[in-house]
Amino acid sequence: MSSEQSLQAEIKDILSQGPISGFAGGEELASSSGETFPVYDPGSGEKLADVHNLQAEDVDRAVELAGQAFENAEWADLPVNERCVYLHRLTDEVEKRKPLISHLESMDCGKILGQAEDDVQNFIDTMRYFADLAQNMQLRTVLAVKGHEAAYARHPWGVCGSIVPWNFPFLLCGWGIAPALAAGNTVVVKPAEDTPLTTLYLARMVKEIGFPDGVVNVVPGLGGVTGAALSANSKLSRMSFTGSPDVGRLVAAECGRNLVPVKLELGGKGAAVVFDDVDVPEAAQKLVEAITFHTGQVCCDATRWLVQKPVYDEFVNEVSERMQKVVIGYPSDEGSAMGPVVSEKQKSRVLGYLEKGIGEGAEVVLEGGAAEVEGRPDGYYVKPALLAGSLDNVAAREEIFGPVAYLAPFDSEADALAKANDTPYGLANSVWSSDLGRCQRVAESFVAGNGWINSHNVVVHGVPYGGVKQSGMGGGVGSLETLLDYYRGISVIRPL
Ligand code: NAD
Repeated sequence: MSSEQSLQAEIKDILSQGPISGFAGGEELASSSGETFPVYDPGSGEKLADVHNLQAEDVDRAVELAGQAFENAEWADLPVNERCVYLHRLTDEVEKRKPLISHLESMDCGKILGQAEDDVQNFIDTMRYFADLAQNMQLRTVLAVKGHEAAYARHPWGVCGSIVPWNFPFLLCGWGIAPALAAGNTVVVKPAEDTPLTTLYLARMVKEIGFPDGVVNVVPGLGGVTGAALSANSKLSRMSFTGSPDVGRLVAAECGRNLVPVKLELGGKGAAVVFDDVDVPEAAQKLVEAITFHTGQVCCDATRWLVQKPVYDEFVNEVSERMQKVVIGYPSDEGSAMGPVVSEKQKSRVLGYLEKGIGEGAEVVLEGGAAEVEGRPDGYYVKPALLAGSLDNVAAREEIFGPVAYLAPFDSEADALAKANDTPYGLANSVWSSDLGRCQRVAESFVAGNGWINSHNVVVHGVPYGGVKQSGMGGGVGSLETLLDYYRGISVIRPL
């Protein structure tokens, strides 16, 4: 049997063992109602597995077990280097099983296999980054103040909830759990119902490598049931939510009722500002790669392409030519450059926005629409699309979450900035020019969490990644900012 065949056999084995349950306190956690939900392969439309839909009482049980692990299992009191040994051990095991996890992720999300491999690598890098950072933290600082002896100390909070979306399930699971665990908290993770498989697999690995029971818990289920129950649990010490602004508001409201601090990483409607001194073919190529990366289902993507008038026509020709050549195919087939969207619902959303945008008068540069992939008649495939015209158009204002870009010309730097910032979102924009001084100025003037220069989708460990306005609140992930969030501070003071 080839290694590819034995990998497929192993995945088949994992998926065929009946409904997959959640995981809490080191044990399987089934739904108390017995309800399950199906998970599909977006590339073929075939069912991959059934997963338990955990109910409110199951979620409460998981939080309770995570709380006991925090209080009793001495996880929080372990010296940080000993705690981080567990993180490294788990990470080393993920690295060993990278081919399997990447294949599973690719099947579950419809993600091009190479991109799924990059996501798994990102998980590995995230775990190692936070394990190392935590070991170098100064957790007690003596403060020199007049007439007092004072110190500021940092401790882990307790149980941290993490609700994750479907577009980067394994990668975002890492962003959620790594800083929380490194700081000494325990975690309850709720994966998205469309893509729970790699997170559930990770839960089993946690057990296998000997993590103390209850430190890592995973509660699969539907958003309105399982996610809502986790958000409403008053025993959480912190919550991290990544997903849409609409659900973010609901989660924040629930957390607000219990005064649980919440970090939100939400959607975006990023701009790419392309000046006329740029290498047009190169910028066109990179932006086409960005909008077709994971079929445009990327929160920080550039979906509004603002182009300076002298090069507007040339840019439009370059991008439309390149977009038509993108090879759409089954995610693990060699040669596929763009896979399906995650679900039938997401496919309807993308096609619906195209229809609404065109209905509101957008010019059609590339009409997009449903795509056919040979041998996969039931996969959720769409073609890349390009619209142009007024930036008041619905397709220019709302997050579509598909391979659709919206073009508009601009005159001056001021005009470009006004257009880029005229959005309720504030996640990530990019500026493209050979004048690096101008790039720096424009990038810093974006009202967004991230300003990128001559590139898009640049997310690097050590650099805070976050959003403002409707794109989120609560500090940048992947950096020291996040790790600090996972410690509660206490000031200790004695008058002299
Ligand atoms: P979503 O908001 O529909 O779901 C996100 C998660 O919330 C899922 O696990 C879902 O089950 C859960 N959920 C749904 N209803 C809930 C409720 N009532 N209470 C609690 N939880 C609930 O988002 P999605 O469709 O899975 O993901 C796409 C969105 O995520 C886009 O808006 C995208 O921009 C955003 N996103 C943001 C980032 C970032 O870092 N800023 C990263 C990835 C995705």
